[in-house]
Order: sequence, then C-alpha cells, then structure tokens
Amino acid sequence: MYYYVLMAIFFLLLASFLNVVIYRLPRGESLLYPSSRCPACGHRLYLLDLLPLLSFILLRGKCRYCRESIPAQYLLVEIITPILWMLVFLKWGFSMQTFSGVVLTAILVAAAFTDINKGIIPDTLSLTGLLLGLGLGFVTIGIKQSLLGAVGFGLIFLFIALISRGGMGGGDIKLAALIGAFTGFSGALMVILISSWLGGLWAVVLLIQGQAGLKTAIKFAPFLAIAAWLVWMYQIELISFYRDMLWRLC
Ligand SMILES: [Zn+2]
Repeated sequence: MYYYVLMAIFFLLLASFLNVVIYRLPRGESLLYPSSRCPACGHRLYLLDLLPLLSFILLRGKCRYCRESIPAQYLLVEIITPILWMLVFLKWGFSMQTFSGVVLTAILVAAAFTDINKGIIPDTLSLTGLLLGLGLGFVTIGIKQSLLGAVGFGLIFLFIALISRGGMGGGDIKLAALIGAFTGFSGALMVILISSWLGGLWAVVLLIQGQAGLKTAIKFAPFLAIAAWLVWMYQIELISFYRDMLWRLC
C-alpha cells in the first residue's frame, strides 16, 4: 500500500514535468531553464502554483497573478498520465517492463499533445524515444524484435506517406519507428489496425458533425499513441480477442 501511494505521488510530479515538455519542446525552449512561468503573463510560478492537481483546484483553474484561465489540457495531462502509469505499474510491478512502459507512455502522451497543439512531433522527442525504445527493447523484447519493429513500422509509414503525398508527415513516420522499437513488429501491425479504426471512426464523427470534409487532413499521432499504448499493455489479450472474433465469424 505504502509503495502504491509513493508511486502515485511520484507519477503526479512526473506528469507536471510532462506538461513542461509538451509546452516547451515544440518551441525549442530548454526543459530545465528558466523556471516555470505563466504562459499568459510570464510571472514566475512558485511551489504553491505548481502542486500537481491541487494548484489547479485551489486556484480554480486560473493564474494567481493575471487571473487568466489555465488551459484545461494541463489538468487533463496531469490526470490521464498518472492513471496510465499506475496501470502499467499495477500490471508489471517493479521491473524493467514497468520502466519501459512509463517511458513509452510519457513519449506517447507528449507526442499526441504536441501534435494536437502545434501539428508537430519534435525530433528531440521522437529520436530520443527511438534510442530509448531500442535500448529498453534490448532488455525486454530483445534487440532483434525491437530493431525489426522500428525499421519495419517506420518503412510502412514511409510508404503510406509516399503514396498519400503529404497525408502523413515526417513526424508520424518517426513516431511509428519509435513505437515499433517498443512493441516489436507483430505489435506494430496491431497498432496499424487499431489506429486506423480509431482514426476512421473519428473522421466519421467529424463528417457527421460537418466539421470536416473528405479532404480534411486528420492529425493521426493521437490515434497512433492510443493504439500503441493499448497494444503495448494488452497485446496478448488483444490477439486472443481478435482470434475469438475471427473464430466466430468463420
Ligand atoms: Zn498569469
């Protein structure tokens, strides 16, 4: 019990830092310097302004100095990421697998939100992620699987980018390669399947609501990220789920 509470607190603090990464990386700013500032008024933020979750609730979602609303996204990241990390930790305990899952989750959340906010996945994020993925792959799924996943998945996306002529960006290709390094090649194939389902459903929702036409480009990184997390966590369960479905259909 004691360990779980400690881990939860650690994850909450780590998620605050992830918000810094999401804000600063696409702007090319340093992650460590200067200390945190309000994006609206630039006022320096102190410990009381930076408590995960608590500050947002105590300040009612507004900056203490300029009263400007803090974007709800900060709160979203501070809630979702620790939950995902806790799920990883509950499943794998204190292990390399958990460490690998925590790293992957952080990269996926950051990539999804930098894509939503700025339409880019910073190279620093995807290339660091790729190296970490290969390094951690070495001790978890094996370097052969990890390399095969990275190269295979990267090439598939490069191919899609070439035939779709700009429908898929370079950021997506690098994101795919790093995901492959974590999931291996068979996992990567499932990521394609699930992310295209999710992206397709989202496109249909937008079409029905009249918010998109048939030619609107859809940001794909969030769907890749969700699919990659699901596959990394539940690959075995997903495979047997698909097998059962096919079994019933045949
Ligand atoms: Zn402010």
